[in-house]
Amino acid sequence: MKNFAYREADSKDAILAALAELKDAYVIAGGTNVMLNILDKKVNDRTLVNLRNAKELRGIKDNGETITIGATTTISDLEHSELIAGEAKALWQAAVSFADPTTRHSATVGGNISNASPAADTATALMVLDAVVTIEKKGAKREVALTDFFKGVGKTVLAADEIVTAITFKKSHNCAFIKLGLRNAMAISVANVAVNLVKQGDVVKDIKIAMGSVAPTVRRCAEVEKALLGKKLEDAVIAEAVKGLDKDISPIDDIRATGKYRKQVAPVLVTRAIYAACGCKDGGAK
Ligand SMILES: Cc1cc2nc3c(=O)[nH]c(=O)nc-3n(C[C@H](O)[C@H](O)[C@H](O)COP(=O)(O)OP(=O)(O)OC[C@H]3O[C@@H](n4cnc5c(N)ncnc54)[C@H](O)[C@@H]3O)c2cc1C
Repeated sequence: MKNFAYREADSKDAILAALAELKDAYVIAGGTNVMLNILDKKVNDRTLVNLRNAKELRGIKDNGETITIGATTTISDLEHSELIAGEAKALWQAAVSFADPTTRHSATVGGNISNASPAADTATALMVLDAVVTIEKKGAKREVALTDFFKGVGKTVLAADEIVTAITFKKSHNCAFIKLGLRNAMAISVANVAVNLVKQGDVVKDIKIAMGSVAPTVRRCAEVEKALLGKKLEDAVIAEAVKGLDKDISPIDDIRATGKYRKQVAPVLVTRAIYAACGCKDGGAK
């Protein structure tokens, strides 16, 4: 391991000031990705700026129709939040199926999205909840839709002196997240899917579908959404709609699965997640 400097900061302003001042800053939150990056020598000779002691960056706030979570809110915080379990079930399901209790205790939501892995579980759930990312640097603040936040594998819109400070998303009572891993715990997603559905009677009034681990970034499945919008939600309609995944996803082979396998399971996962969002776990859209 190479030499690292380390900067503690106990407030958001102190962190933003350090990022404005240091040319070699590298932000660390829970460290679950950063430590591996250091061991793999992907990050060398940097000044690590720790986010975890800024109390204002952590917490879950009920705003009425939306919820705001601070960037250093941990996956474990989400898992134990009644608000998240009741009003954003897809995100809660992403949290409870994430890694193991020790990792969930350290890993943060801000770190999960900023790391920009195509397999980031919270990103898939947050994307169907219309999440907006608050990004700050010294003296400036901007908001970016999560759909526009990712630029590629490991790449985001963040500049070197910017951090994610919060994520705000809409509440939903009709959403679900499903993860396919190689085992039940401690598994990075082979593929994951989240659905957020609004029905008027049997008809789809609004639907958002996102998938992870099937493209360079977590992404919305626009073709499938379009095929379902305004339609009566029936098994045959869903079966036809999920054919649109051919255009929505472009999975590759990696150590966890082949692209061909991912293409085969994607329609099954999306179908199951639609049923789950309707509250019909065992199949059948009604
Ligand atoms: C054993 C193990 C199991 C895992 N299982 C899963 C899993 O099931 N699902 C899953 O999605 N991931 C999983 N991961 C990956 C990892 O735990 C997550 O991506 C985690 O959420 C990262 O959060 P962190 O706080 O640890 O980020 P860190 O490691 O501290 O940071 C990650 C990256 O984001 C940057 N960063 C962190 N916070 C911010 C911020 N607020 N603003 C700007 N940049 C920031 C850092 O500079 C770094 O580049 C696993 C990792 C391990 C080691």
